[in-house]
Amino acid sequence: MTTIDPAIQAQVDQILAKVHEGGRINYDEGLLLYQHADLLDLADAANARRQQLVPGDRVTYLIDRNINYTNVCVTDCQFCNFYALPGDNEKGYVNSKLILGAKIKEALELGATRILMQGGHNPDLPYEYYIDLVDWIHRTFPTIEINAFSPSEIQYMSEIGGKTWKETLSDLKAVGLMGLPGGGGEILDDEIRKRVTPKKIMTDDWFGVMKVAHELGLITTTTMVIGFREKLENRMNHLQRLRDEQDDSLKRFGNGFNAFISWTVQIEGTPLGRSRFADEYGGTSTEYLRHTAISRIFLDNIPHISASWPTQGAKVGQMSLHFGADDFGSTMIEENVVSSAGAITKASPLMLPHEMHRQIREAGFTPAQRNTNYDILKVFDQPEADAELKTIQEIEQAASKQGNWAGVTLIE
Ligand code: SF4
Repeated sequence: MTTIDPAIQAQVDQILAKVHEGGRINYDEGLLLYQHADLLDLADAANARRQQLVPGDRVTYLIDRNINYTNVCVTDCQFCNFYALPGDNEKGYVNSKLILGAKIKEALELGATRILMQGGHNPDLPYEYYIDLVDWIHRTFPTIEINAFSPSEIQYMSEIGGKTWKETLSDLKAVGLMGLPGGGGEILDDEIRKRVTPKKIMTDDWFGVMKVAHELGLITTTTMVIGFREKLENRMNHLQRLRDEQDDSLKRFGNGFNAFISWTVQIEGTPLGRSRFADEYGGTSTEYLRHTAISRIFLDNIPHISASWPTQGAKVGQMSLHFGADDFGSTMIEENVVSSAGAITKASPLMLPHEMHRQIREAGFTPAQRNTNYDILKVFDQPEADAELKTIQEIEQAASKQGNWAGVTLIE
């Protein structure tokens, strides 16, 4: 254990006490905690904040599937191993409605209530493609919630269609779009974005698209990726801007981000992974837990924090429930983006609801299934209720019924 200057410890204690009393902390106080607070003291304060915002012992989760409509992309993000350049006919794809429909059908059989659909910035897809796709999914599968297109994709399709963000989002909402995932946020500080994702949406535009989504009443979440060799100040810049924008959206529209999720960058097979600084990218488990706790404490106007088991593994995901997270994320029936860059899901693409329940219960919480809007669909108060969950055999049967496309791989 490193020793800490007593004067700094006194300041840290004062800030932590403020959190326990429900007070908001400022940028400098957040930075001081990040630099000096003991990890378990941070966990304690993050849990206090969690209880102020989401009282009780419930930990929610969602059954959903991540679907990618295309991996063709012109953006060249330095941390991406998922995309193919236009003209790369070996790796590049645009999934047909037949394949997308089969994936959604299978997800429904597995109990999914939502699809999370994202893709590359594909110059060959016209504006109408996106509207038609959402329209078709909504008409074909009216019960599935459609959460799709990061702010960067919205910006790209708006450019292609010669539309404003508001026109694009209104068109998508009119045909069934329920919300936007907060993808493509990485670090919302242009100093870092210009280095690792220079062709993608910059900070002002990322928040600009989300502001319109809030105005239109769409459901949104927000993401953050750490481990780009950024300074703690860059992380705090992201958190401060996010909190300010959330205050503004809630004040103006009564609608804002409903959840925050962060993870450490995955770099396998990416330009960052081949760079001379490769060993310095990514983050350790304690760094992730520390960041989760700081985020929970600082973002006092975003109700939910999700654990990222797909990138950190189930064990660290479980630990994050003691660092302020109140949601275990999704069963992740399919995930291709961070998996391509080395995330846990590469080997284990699905966490069964049984396993989710086990992780949540053994951490001392009660599992509850939710929808996109964080409405509780079912609380599993008693362990006996887990018997209602689909068994591995039932899930395998559902998967094998769906024909000859690449199905799910199960973990127990
Ligand atoms: S992260 Fe997304 S936008 Fe960036 S290169 Fe990959 S597919 Fe394209």
